Parts: sequence; structure tokens; C-alpha cells
Amino acid sequence: MTQIAVDVPVRAVARAAAPVLRERGQHEVFCGLTGIVWLHRKLQDAFFLVVGSRTCAHLIQSAAGVMIFAEPRFGTAILTDRDLAGIADANEELDRVCTQLVARRPEIRTLFLVGSCPSEVIKLDLAKAAERLSARLLPQVRVLNYSGSGIETTFTQGEDNALLSMVPVLPATQERKLLVVGCLADVIEDQFRRHFDALGIGPVEFFPGRRAADLPAVGPGTDLLAAQPFNGATVRALVARGARLLPAPYPLGVEGTTAWFGAACAAWNVSAEKRQAVLGPAIERATASLARHRGSLQGKRLFLLPDSQLEIPLARFLHREMGMQLIEVATPYLDRTMLESELPLLPTGVTLAEGQDVERQLDRLRSARPDLTICGLGLANPLEAEGFATKWSIELVFTPIHGYEQAADLAEICARPLRRRALLTV
Ligand code: SF4
Repeated sequence: MTQIAVDVPVRAVARAAAPVLRERGQHEVFCGLTGIVWLHRKLQDAFFLVVGSRTCAHLIQSAAGVMIFAEPRFGTAILTDRDLAGIADANEELDRVCTQLVARRPEIRTLFLVGSCPSEVIKLDLAKAAERLSARLLPQVRVLNYSGSGIETTFTQGEDNALLSMVPVLPATQERKLLVVGCLADVIEDQFRRHFDALGIGPVEFFPGRRAADLPAVGPGTDLLAAQPFNGATVRALVARGARLLPAPYPLGVEGTTAWFGAACAAWNVSAEKRQAVLGPAIERATASLARHRGSLQGKRLFLLPDSQLEIPLARFLHREMGMQLIEVATPYLDRTMLESELPLLPTGVTLAEGQDVERQLDRLRSARPDLTICGLGLANPLEAEGFATKWSIELVFTPIHGYEQAADLAEICARPLRRRALLTV
């Protein structure tokens, strides 16, 4: 068997101090309500009640349209225009809706009240409503609240806010443990758990787990390994509870996944031989399967518009492992704590941008004429019509892309629009 060194740190280049283009203008991004689409699939005992307008109801119904065939675990309490004198009624109405919901759905253990942007919702104090309802419904149901408003959040921040709302109710512990932070598909969670078990690292818990009611304990013995780069507020709240963040790149691609496990191995003193024995075969398989996609991506020029906050780890993977050339890597927010191990892995010369002024950015894109653009849904169709190959960044949030087994799927998802466009132009 080929020996693959799994304990060699990833080669970094001096990139961290490079200038960042900061733009504050019109931006085209989904709001944080979108996070409900993947969170409600993961947290099987939770219900997400959006307190919002008809627009909010339409957004989550169409984003999560498949759920029309099942009894969904999300809904919208639609508030119509009210003045401040009508707020008492609105609170009563909300209490009535929640009580009815819990009576009709006895399997629900956690109810999230999700705030949105309409002014009628902003007038309501959802934190107080959650407290009042928790007092009434506990122990059967815990009621939490967070904001998914488009004024305050972009779409992956919805997950960060949901997890953040759970941090104050996590039990305390002194026990040494590893906590993986960020919503992962069950199949990935199972794969990661198998690797941690074989490496002798544990106990390991995932936040969120499959049931919102199974809250992981946290404290001074807790090592945090972030699986998604957009949960910075949650990570900081866990650190404030005594946990320690293990800096690592994200488990996208072979290199990122190896470095991610490497950070846990270093903290848990796992020997180089053991790492090799456990991770070596997975690395070898994933490296071989990635090679099949390199031909489609190598040398192609990539532009990432700001949307999911996955842009920097994605760019790192597509450049370093798939040979793509980076033109611009833009992210809605540049959280340096969460990206400490990623930023040095980007090549010099790439434009790194934070925020968006969409027209100016599109001008840069049109003049650079990239082979592939990763962007939000709203911009993909117009860009396709102008002749650009695009990939929806939201697809990369919905699809399992983390870890060794999924590395080739991630490459394939990015190669598909290039192949399709090549066929169209033959
Ligand atoms: S942007 Fe605001 S109004 Fe529109 S769907 Fe999101 S929360 Fe609702």
C-alpha cells in the first residue's frame, strides 16, 4: 500500500496579511430563514415557527418544497399590520398558536420561534415570548428564539443563530471531550464518528445532534472542532463557557479533511502510526477518486461571489487539490477567528473580498470572464444567460460535501456546469 503521510501539516503560504477588498453596497443573498431547510432535517424533534409575513412563508415553502408531502416541522405564523396597541393581541395569538401546535405534535421537544424583518415582527419581543412559553410548556417542550431576518442575517447565519440560542441551555461539564460544531448530514456524522473511534479520540459529540433535546454538555475540558466556517458566534459563546477551539482548516477535500483530523489528533496525542493506519486507506481512496475530476477543473478560472461563507475553504480546495485558478474569492463576512487556518492556504495574487456591491462586482466578473462562477441563486440565471457557467452555492450547503468519501462528489458538483457548457458549445 502507498504510504501517505497524514501527520504533515499543510503547506502554508504567506497570505494572511494580504489586503481585503471591503465592499458595502447592494447585496444579493438569501436571509437566515433558509437555514431552516437543513436544520429541520437534522433536528428531528424540533419545530421551527417563523414569525413573519407572507413573503417569509413563501420563501421557506419554496426553498423546502419537497416537504409538502410530509408533515413538515416548520411553519409560519403570519403577522398582519399592527400598531403597538395590537401587540398584546399578537402575543396572545402567538401563545395560542404555539400551545395548539405542541398539543397536535406531541413528538416536538424543542420549538424555535424564528424572527424575521417585517416591522410588525420587530415590535414583538420574541425572547420574552420564548421565556413565557417555555415556562408554560416545560418539561415537554423547550422554546427558544433566534433571528433569521434578512436585515441581520445571510442564509448560513441562520444556522449560527439557531445554535447560539441553544448554548445557554447546554449543561456544564468538566469532562474531557471533543465537540464538533456545525450541522452535518447524518451520513457524514457517522463517517467522522467511525474515524474518531478508530483513532481513540472520545467521547465525541456533534452540535447540533440528531435531536435538539439531546444537548451536549460543555465546559473547560471541551475541545471544539468547527465543521462549518459560518458558526463563529456559536463558537465564541462556547469558548465563553470554557471550551477551547482547535484551529484547523475545514474538512473539504482530502487535504482539508486530513488537517482537520490532524488538529484533533494533535490535541489528543494520537501517534503518527495510528493516524496512518486509520486515515491512510481513506486518504488513498479519496485521492484516487479526486484524480478522475482533475482534468475537468485543472487550469480553469474561478470567481466566487459572496453567499454561503463556505467560499474560502471551497476556493482553497479547488485551487490546491483541483488546480483551478482563483480570480476573486468573496465572502459575506470574513471571520478571521474561524478562518485562521484557511487564509494562509490561499495563493498570493487572488482578490479576497468581504461584503458586496453587486454591480461593481459583476463588472469585475464580466471583465475577468471566469470559466466557472459560484454564486447565489438570484444571480446564477442572469449570468448563465450572459454565457457564464455557474454553480449555485446553496447546493453546496444542502449536499453532503465534507470528508474523504464526499471529496470526489464535491469536485464533481463543481465540474458539472463546465461539462454542460462544453456540450452546449460543441
Ligand atoms: S428577507 Fe425578511 S421578509 Fe424576506 S423572507 Fe427573509 S425574513 Fe422574511
